[in-house]
Amino acid sequence: MNSSEIEVQPSCEDEQNTGLITVAEAQARILEGAAPVTATETLPVREALGRVLAEDIVSPINVPSHTNSAMDGYAVRAEDLPADGVREFPVPGTSWAGRPWLTPIEPGQAVQIMTGGMMPAGADTVVMQEQVERAGDTVRIGGGHRHGQNVRAAGEDLAAGQQVLTAGKHLTPADIGVLASLGLSEVPVMRRLRVAFFSTGDELRSVGEPLGPGDIYDSNRYTLYGMLEKLDVEIIDMGVVRDRRDLIEQAFNDAAAHADAIITSGGVSVGEADFVKETLEKLGSMSFWKIAMKPGRPVTFGHIGNAVFFGLPGNPVSVMVTFFQFVRPALVKMSGDTGSPAVYTVRARATTALRKRPGRYEFQRGVLEQTAPGEFAVRSAGAQGSGILRSMSEANCFIMLDPDCTGVEAGEDVTVQPFQNLI
Ligand code: AMP
Ligand code: MG
Repeated sequence: MNSSEIEVQPSCEDEQNTGLITVAEAQARILEGAAPVTATETLPVREALGRVLAEDIVSPINVPSHTNSAMDGYAVRAEDLPADGVREFPVPGTSWAGRPWLTPIEPGQAVQIMTGGMMPAGADTVVMQEQVERAGDTVRIGGGHRHGQNVRAAGEDLAAGQQVLTAGKHLTPADIGVLASLGLSEVPVMRRLRVAFFSTGDELRSVGEPLGPGDIYDSNRYTLYGMLEKLDVEIIDMGVVRDRRDLIEQAFNDAAAHADAIITSGGVSVGEADFVKETLEKLGSMSFWKIAMKPGRPVTFGHIGNAVFFGLPGNPVSVMVTFFQFVRPALVKMSGDTGSPAVYTVRARATTALRKRPGRYEFQRGVLEQTAPGEFAVRSAGAQGSGILRSMSEANCFIMLDPDCTGVEAGEDVTVQPFQNLI
């Protein structure tokens, strides 16, 4: 190779990349084209776990509803506590959690109190059990205490009338606990998104069927199923559709009649049997993008009726990468979720060299490890071909290599996107 050939190399690359859009551009266009569902339903609080809250929740009560003790000990009036020395207090009774001492405290008294027990009227301070000497009906308390110590004020967690949860929040275990602490038995949530998917390809056989010459098992319906399960959507598995115009068209119509989103895999290349694009164009609206990324370069996006359509590539790793980068954020938005943070990224030291061609984004499969608190190392999960699902199974993150990157030496820092149990 002479030097002039080396010089023309970058423009060759540019030529190949014409008509490509960036990952960020594709993400933005897809999000723009994905509208949230509007229908809602009311569910018992436990069933609302993982669903998206449809209305703001305002607290109907104070939580806690009464001022109570944070410790087992003795409730007193701070002004009765000795500045120094020890004072003896008569103990008229006990305030248990759920069985309050309803008589107002008198000057100089100490009411025994348990954690969560309601503070007797007039008492403002709790002295821990470990810091007193109990003798019969009296207790000896020394100095060094602070006015108001060990007391939880009514409404300290949530005040009546305060907005507690915001519509659009994806409800977590803590959230349903908060709802229960308000005494709410039901909660309004967005209806669940319905997502239909099918695989296309004459070569695909389902598990349990024998493989003929040139056949492969359909794995995309399994990875897609798994990734959708994590999103708490209603899943409609439409099986394998053969590479025939009429069958593809029928499947599209079926899916559009039942689903908010349709996901297909395969059939978006420029092969002779790739009917996804033309069918989408015929029945709805179609955008086809070659995205400057690897894997997952060709992605089709559009609408059929009210349904959003994602035509993912056929290669098993491409399906997972494009689902994570494009489909998942769109489905999150469509579910009405406005509160979940974007997937986070971390910086990690590469412990293996990474080969990379410039001009496209690469999502390489990596194995991320924490080496010390806040410090991470990442290595390649092995062969990076877009058909090699094994490396996806061994990986726990994508190593994000931006278009400018020309490769990474061992010891350099890279940005990674942990799977976070999201896919
Ligand atoms: P296509 O986009 O249809 O040309 O498919 C690209 C590659 O992915 C081909 O090698 C297909 O055999 C393979 N492929 C397509 N769909 C699936 C599937 N559902 N499961 C496994 N491999 C698939
Ligand atoms: Mg195919």
